[in-house]
Amino acid sequence: MSNCAIVGVNWGDEGKGRMVDLLTEGYDIVVRFQGGGNAGHTVENDMGKFALHLLPSGIFRSGVMNILGNGVALDPENLMKEVEDVRSKGVSITPDNLMISDRASLLLPWHRDMDELEEIRLKDKKYGSTKQGIAPFYSDKHQKKTVLAGELFYPEKFRAHLRDLMEWKNLTLQSVYGHEPYTMEQLEQWIADCCEKIKPFVGDTGAYLKEAGESGKQILFEAQLGSLRDLDYGIYPYTTSSNTMAAYAPVGSGYPAAKIDSTIGVCKAYSTCVGEGPFVCEMSGEEAERLREAGNEYGAKTGRPRRVGPIDLVASKYGVEVQAATEVALTKLDVLSYMDEIPVCTGYIVDGKQTDRFPFPLALDDAQPVIEYVKGWKEDISGIREFDSLPEEAQEYVKMIEKAIGCPITYVSVGPERESIIIRK
Ligand code: GDP
Repeated sequence: MSNCAIVGVNWGDEGKGRMVDLLTEGYDIVVRFQGGGNAGHTVENDMGKFALHLLPSGIFRSGVMNILGNGVALDPENLMKEVEDVRSKGVSITPDNLMISDRASLLLPWHRDMDELEEIRLKDKKYGSTKQGIAPFYSDKHQKKTVLAGELFYPEKFRAHLRDLMEWKNLTLQSVYGHEPYTMEQLEQWIADCCEKIKPFVGDTGAYLKEAGESGKQILFEAQLGSLRDLDYGIYPYTTSSNTMAAYAPVGSGYPAAKIDSTIGVCKAYSTCVGEGPFVCEMSGEEAERLREAGNEYGAKTGRPRRVGPIDLVASKYGVEVQAATEVALTKLDVLSYMDEIPVCTGYIVDGKQTDRFPFPLALDDAQPVIEYVKGWKEDISGIREFDSLPEEAQEYVKMIEKAIGCPITYVSVGPERESIIIRK
């Protein structure tokens, strides 16, 4: 056993939550190191079906410490709603199994407004924001215009800092967007309703992780979204505003000296993408509708229908590379069981030439997919637990992907439940 990162290889929604839920058994600590409540992990286990947005997926396992690291967009309001929701289904959440980094920046009430106002200003040029305030939050964090969770322990300084930030932000809200200014009364309400509730969970997670790491505890780093949404390596500007890479996990977790021994890249057996941006292998019409229905591809946070397509070997290979994945978990293979023939995107045509290299983001606009078809298996595989018991065609499909992406596929998921997994090691 060793430290491990579980990350997305595609555009997000690969099923990372179900993999973390499965693997937390062997780990002492699960850490979320980036992102906010703008996407969702869906986890199904013996306690029910949960849509997690900010909580680490280890929250269902007793004895596991869950940490929200300094790299996350810590939204006190949404976090406490989520905590109450998960608690209402019988899951215990206390400072004994959830810790928030004192160095995590707080997503402030105006970040959501800024997101909404900017999307309105952009009209049809919008990026498809989930309007959770994530982009304004990260830009303010990098301008050093947010407050840290640990400031809650210094009430006077915290309020003075917040007042300065409010006065600064009101200039933009009023003069640029013609929006109402914020008042300290509103912020006092927010402090009382939301911040005071997160306070018992806030602590020095960096020290906790360092001690845990040095005493041989096993840490699982859990990412949100996927390679193609990474701020630096994704389809900019249709990315998220944080780094979704395993390489960022030590920095965003609060334990920069952490060594990641294995990185599991989660890759879906077909492609999905939420929101705007280039999506070379996109399917349309009835074919798309059928796949969307079969895979139940509707956003966990927004309910938006996801765009769908065949597996994209060009994007997935790139996704595996930038994550430096040491192994891959292929999810939702069962969803393809209805197909006579399965389409596969094996290359792109860029500037008249076929390539298997993922191009510069702007070149994606005119890239054409090369689609080939492989034979389907046309039988229910959801009850299968051994790789050799899969129909020949399904085994071939997995091996073909493995070869193209250049990384061993060690898990094949054939259903949403914790036990619907084939382990191939
Ligand atoms: P995440 O954000 O990467 O965790 O992904 P999502 O939670 O948005 O999407 C994964 C969805 O697929 C969830 O509803 C899961 O319950 C479901 N799921 C995960 N793995 C499988 C699988 O192998 N087969 C099927 N049918 N559903 C799966």
